[in-house]
Amino acid sequence: MELKEKIANDFATRFGGEGNFYASAGRINLIGEHTDYNGGFVFPGAIDKMIMAEIRPNGCDTVRVRSIDIDDYTEFGLNEEDAPQQSWARYIFGVCREIIKRGGTLKGFDAVFAGNVPLGAGLSSSAALESCFAFALNDLFNDNSIDRFELARIGQSTEHNYCGVNCGIMDQFASVFGKKDHLMRLDCRSGEFEYFPFRPEGYTLVLVDSVVKHELADSPYNRRRESCERVAGRLGVETLRDATMEMLDAARADISDEDYRRARYVIGEKQRVLDVCDALVAGDYETVGERMYQTHRGLSEDYEVSCEELDFLNGLARECGVTGSRIMGGGFGGCTINLVKNELLEKFTGEARRQFCERYGHEPKIHEVIISDGARKL
Ligand code: ADP
Ligand code: MG
Repeated sequence: MELKEKIANDFATRFGGEGNFYASAGRINLIGEHTDYNGGFVFPGAIDKMIMAEIRPNGCDTVRVRSIDIDDYTEFGLNEEDAPQQSWARYIFGVCREIIKRGGTLKGFDAVFAGNVPLGAGLSSSAALESCFAFALNDLFNDNSIDRFELARIGQSTEHNYCGVNCGIMDQFASVFGKKDHLMRLDCRSGEFEYFPFRPEGYTLVLVDSVVKHELADSPYNRRRESCERVAGRLGVETLRDATMEMLDAARADISDEDYRRARYVIGEKQRVLDVCDALVAGDYETVGERMYQTHRGLSEDYEVSCEELDFLNGLARECGVTGSRIMGGGFGGCTINLVKNELLEKFTGEARRQFCERYGHEPKIHEVIISDGARKL
């Protein structure tokens, strides 16, 4: 059954009648990894996997929500400060609290929601959920007076304050601003962004989720950040955003080999994002793919955040003739994002399933995605 129909039936059964429909999307990031905390660029887009909700004001001061996918239900009062127990409900509770905190209007409502963004696969189902409700509550109770960037921040603060996830702004940003056939280059320093056309005719974007997550004893993420800060300090710039390869090479004697390689990755990645933007404007998807492979290599060899499974998937992509492939996300597991010529699609996904399973004992999860609209009213 179609998502909308499923939700409508459920809503009618539980609450009677009907409400308004809203949706928001998961996201990919084509290129620009480990750049956010270096003041650099990320390059995400919303995808055709979404969270959809039917919502109707209920005239009282209670929020009543049902999750079809989790098959669960919760209620909370508008003035309640204790978050619900269920983790899925905390995202909605958090969005409500964050709207109130900002002086926005909120009234009681009934809602039913469901989605098809794979959970925990690196496609940001949580941002889709937050931005779907933030967008809807802005439309229903605030005449859309909360601007879109603030809607993204409401989602981000929800993660920080109610879900224990200390994330950046990219996921919620992509979910809120996503536009069909466009990726967005977000400048993490200024918050400015620009849309770029993404119409890869003859190619498909494929996520290959290794379903592994290596938990490391020390905190590699913090150590990467420290390396970047150390080199920036040594070069006399605020962040590596302002550093060039020439500056780095000139200071090489005073920088440890490890720090040098970390900074080389970050500085290279800034340029690769810019190259990809130019390539997209020119419709040159082969160059886009090359940069993706270069990013993977940098993440693996210089930044050292890859792992055996991801390097294996990347190597396999290359062997199959895939145009571009790289780790998507922080690394140490999760998925690769691949730009695949349509005629190679079956071969690549078949080989990825077979060979990965042979080697690691389980199949990867494969998701084809299309760049689509983000938060919206249906
Ligand atoms: P992701 O990388 O997909 O964002 P997270 O762990 O951050 O992974 O978020 C996943 C959580 O978001 C789920 O555990 C659940 O609480 C909530 N969620 C996402 N999609 C749905 C859905 N369709 N229905 C209910 N809850 C959902
Ligand atoms: Mg998430």
